[in-house]
Amino acid sequence: MRLVLFGPPGAGKGTQASRLAEVLKIPHIATGDILRANVADGTPLGREAKAFMDRGDLVPDDVINRMIATRLDADDAADGFILDGYPRTVPQALELEGSLRDRGTPLDAVLRFVIAEEELIRRVSGRAQEEGRSDDSADVLRNRLQEYRSKTVPLESFYAERRLLRDVDALGDIDEVTRRAQATLDGLRSGDAWR
Ligand code: AMP
Repeated sequence: MRLVLFGPPGAGKGTQASRLAEVLKIPHIATGDILRANVADGTPLGREAKAFMDRGDLVPDDVINRMIATRLDADDAADGFILDGYPRTVPQALELEGSLRDRGTPLDAVLRFVIAEEELIRRVSGRAQEEGRSDDSADVLRNRLQEYRSKTVPLESFYAERRLLRDVDALGDIDEVTRRAQATLDGLRSGDAWR
């Protein structure tokens, strides 16, 4: 299966993506994780991305698109993947659509994790304390949510028009959300009507 997990920072996409990837035996490709690894290793990509990430700004599309194209070319992604944190802008979504079209392997679905903003702020501030992520401070979080609203939310109508969007209620305990996501995927596989 070729899936995109979509939702605001703090919606639990990362946790759910890694669980679903394990069940489906396909790679979990998280752009934020790849970028953080590059920052930690001091690679040219990491040096280019760091300032954007520290401010909570999106990293420029061309940088991200190149990074993802390389990752999707890897052998382990040949039979499917779960993208987490990509695409985040309409140009990224167009780029992904074009490259998957060229390969004859379109997306199967975009799972949208639906959650109220107050809950997000509560979760992300908790994560900031636990993990010490430099982009989880209150100001940076506000900026990340602003970036999400202005640049990423337009993808909802992009994917709704393509009849790929499926909602998963992201409120509740982790196991419960996983069960909901799996039920949505089971529905897809058994050919439920698209929304
Ligand atoms: P995340 O862990 O997905 O919240 O990503 C952390 C940060 O990495 C984001 O705030 C952005 O600065 C950057 N980033 C991750 N994915 C993307 C993307 N698809 N486009 C642009 N920037 C991204």
